[in-house]
Amino acid sequence: MDDEPFWRRKRLSEMTDAEWETLCDGCGRCCLNKLEDYDTGEIAWTDVACRLLDEESCTCTDYQNRQSLVPDCIQLDPDNVGSLTWLPPSCAYRLVNEGRDLYWWHHLVSGDRETVHQAGVSVSGRTISEEGFPPERLEERVVKWPGKRPKERGRARSPGKAGRGVVQKAD
Ligand code: SF4
Ligand code: SF4
Repeated sequence: MDDEPFWRRKRLSEMTDAEWETLCDGCGRCCLNKLEDYDTGEIAWTDVACRLLDEESCTCTDYQNRQSLVPDCIQLDPDNVGSLTWLPPSCAYRLVNEGRDLYWWHHLVSGDRETVHQAGVSVSGRTISEEGFPPERLEERVVKWPGKRPKERGRARSPGKAGRGVVQKAD
């Protein structure tokens, strides 16, 4: 039905550029450094953020030039969303790709870009910058919260952007 919002009636590949861009919830979780186990492929998130991430607003401070400044910043597109195992379970692109609905705190549902912060979903105030942080110490900063699915409370009725790639680690 045409009165359904675009993210419920369109696949990612059918969205306009404007729809694609506004789908991002601005959580900043994809801009955290991740570690990947060589043997199992398991992802561990850290609370160490990309040096271009504004740690309060969770926006990229140089979005236009991000890929030249941060070579492992990965551009999301409809073809790669399904294969990026490090996308957090709350990520709007992942949710839509899996046929799920957006959560109540997504600005397209709430009408307010602050609710992603108010709900405690964004990384605002919870990270340190990778600037000056030794990569070999990333394992000290492993956290579980970015990989957790948010509570269902207030969920809407029916069921990139860009992000930071992973660093592989050996045991
Ligand atoms: S791409 Fe996904 S994880 Fe990253 S900020 Fe947007 S919604 Fe959040
Ligand atoms: S990971 Fe990419 S989008 Fe996120 S802050 Fe870094 S450069 Fe910007």
